[in-house]
Amino acid sequence: MIIQRVVLNSRPGKNGVPVAENFRLEQSTIADTVQAGQVRVKTLYLSVDPYMRCRMNEDTGSDYLQPWQLSEVADGGGVGVVEESKHENLSKGDFVTSFTWPWQTVAILDGSLLQKLVPQLVNGRLSYFLGAAGITGLTALLGVREKGHVAVGANQTMVVSGAAGACGSLAGQIGRLEGCTRVVGIAGTDEKCSILVQEMGFDAAINYKKGNVAEQLRELCPGGVDVYFDNVGGDISDTVISQMNQNSHIILCGQISQYNKDVPYPPPLPPDIEKVQKERNITRERFLVLNYMDKHEASILQLCQWIQEGKLKVRETVIEGLANIGAAFQSMMSGGNIGKQIVSVSK
Ligand code: NAP
Repeated sequence: MIIQRVVLNSRPGKNGVPVAENFRLEQSTIADTVQAGQVRVKTLYLSVDPYMRCRMNEDTGSDYLQPWQLSEVADGGGVGVVEESKHENLSKGDFVTSFTWPWQTVAILDGSLLQKLVPQLVNGRLSYFLGAAGITGLTALLGVREKGHVAVGANQTMVVSGAAGACGSLAGQIGRLEGCTRVVGIAGTDEKCSILVQEMGFDAAINYKKGNVAEQLRELCPGGVDVYFDNVGGDISDTVISQMNQNSHIILCGQISQYNKDVPYPPPLPPDIEKVQKERNITRERFLVLNYMDKHEASILQLCQWIQEGKLKVRETVIEGLANIGAAFQSMMSGGNIGKQIVSVSK
């Protein structure tokens, strides 16, 4: 059977900015028959995520991520529908997902590596299983719960960087649901800031590309910052940390501003900021959503419940066509997305 697939065409280099041309669409073939234990799936949605930047390097710098190989098919989070099954638990028409879905239109996969999805949990919005009801939502929820020390009645102020992105937009809303009394986002455009306040219930948002972030933060967080959900690192984070309170907490989710640089993860803080962190006893522990697998199932149900109740507002930027997945990745890494970046492959 003839299929389309996307392979890694070239590496951007550890200090390079990734571009769409780092990926290549090509025609390929898969077997016409499905073996025992396998299923043939049609791809519906693929996820592009910042961690994939590390997979573009020859060495990902972490033990839980494998590098993509040149001229080999890329993979990541995906959702699809079973077209033919020789696996006992899966039938034609089932919707399924995997973290290692190949970037191709149709694939033959080992059925035991797929999880069956219940579309009703997300009001039929299957792509949510890659975002708000998937690893992104889990990252936001478990980040807040495991590292945020958020408590009802504690009158805490939370700041979120990368706030209009997939994790950030959920993290701010979850911070509020879990008890924060004030939530302030930092994002890269006025449109993103307006969505955060008008749609997602943030109290305020700062466009970090305009004006003085430190001044605006002081004005918007008069009692200082108690919880900082950090998606970006770099200058923005240094500014936020400078305004954090004694015994406050950083949720070290990601450091996207450093991903095109050859630096260790997590990148060390500049000496003056590290001094502030130590003197004020600000926690900054590494957080990895994959370390909490035992909490994933219950957490997904919580996220789905909030989505159904309308308590968690979800935004996606959907790009059509497998051929455009490289462009989608480039765009997300440079701030083109609002909410979760999804590629729709169904056509
Ligand atoms: P995302 O926020 O949807 O996309 C990235 C966003 O980051 C862009 O839209 C852009 O928005 C912002 N950005 C890009 N370069 C920036 C820079 N130099 N300075 C400031 N902002 C920049 O991605 P996501 O999926 O939600 O991931 C957010 C973070 O969480 C990433 O660091 C990712 O690695 C991390 N993560 C961690 C875990 C974990 O287990 N710890 C799991 C998943 C994701 P602007 O327009 O606002 O600049």
